[in-house]
Amino acid sequence: MADLASKLGGDVAAIMVTNPNTCGLFERDILEISRLTHAAGAYFYCDGANFNAIVGRVRPGDLGVDAMHINLHKTFSTPHGGGGPGAGPVVLSEALAPFAPAPWVVHDADGYRLIEREEDEAAQAFGRLCAFQGQMGMYTRALSYMMSHGSDGLRQVAEDAVLNANYIKARLSDLMSAAFPDGPCMHEALFDDEWLKGTEVTTLDFAKAMIDEGFHPMTMYFPLVVHGAMLIEPTETESKQELDRFIHAMRALAEAAKAGDVDRFKGAPFHAPMKRLDETRAARSPVLRWTAPEGSNIAAE
Ligand SMILES: *Cc1c(COP(=O)(O)O)cnc(C)c1O
Repeated sequence: MADLASKLGGDVAAIMVTNPNTCGLFERDILEISRLTHAAGAYFYCDGANFNAIVGRVRPGDLGVDAMHINLHKTFSTPHGGGGPGAGPVVLSEALAPFAPAPWVVHDADGYRLIEREEDEAAQAFGRLCAFQGQMGMYTRALSYMMSHGSDGLRQVAEDAVLNANYIKARLSDLMSAAFPDGPCMHEALFDDEWLKGTEVTTLDFAKAMIDEGFHPMTMYFPLVVHGAMLIEPTETESKQELDRFIHAMRALAEAAKAGDVDRFKGAPFHAPMKRLDETRAARSPVLRWTAPEGSNIAAE
């Protein structure tokens, strides 16, 4: 906090905080952070990436947030990965709302109205969005998700997501090293690779062996501040039975690693059509069109 306070000054326009953060921890000093930020004449942007952990429980405005994007693909059920389509509506505090780009929707006695022009009610708008509708299908899906849950259901989403992550953390912490062992986590259980020391098995090897067990590996090596990170985010949708199946597989793998069964990991995945990919090359020189090898009828991956 002292470090933050020393950096806030006349040349700071805004700060950005992810809360809960990528280590699965809730920033408890958030009210003091927003107070200091506002006192310095700056605004507080919140990365809404981990809203899943607090949706229905906490109003970002009450934390002093001035602007936040809501990752619909993380909190509100729209598809994740595969390059889209995505949508991230941005919500603003009263202090910033007058500057929102037009058009926007208002609700008053006559029902809903669209404020279209940068005049009158939108005189301070900083411009006009040309693609206002965004990915319409994503909004429809998110709205359906919210309405099917209701406010009590959305609150339970956060509670179940956090409970599921803590269940995993509690059931694996005796074999694997939790990065932040003290106290509960939010909706992400984070382990480091301390527990793999001396086994020759790396986080990558472990993740590849999970594929052989039929599980999509968790996020690896992220966040960067945790060595060999394994970030497990079960979300609210997994049942206790499914969590137990996952925990059982993880425990069996962890015990195999500790017992020195290195081959099971170094050669993994054994049961996937593609083995270890050259991910750097895939990112640097993506092949975006599949062409059939001459005289072959092998299906595209
Ligand atoms: C997922 C994530 C992002 C990226 O958001 P996308 O909308 O998926 O691109 C940024 N920050 C954090 C902490 C995240 O978890």
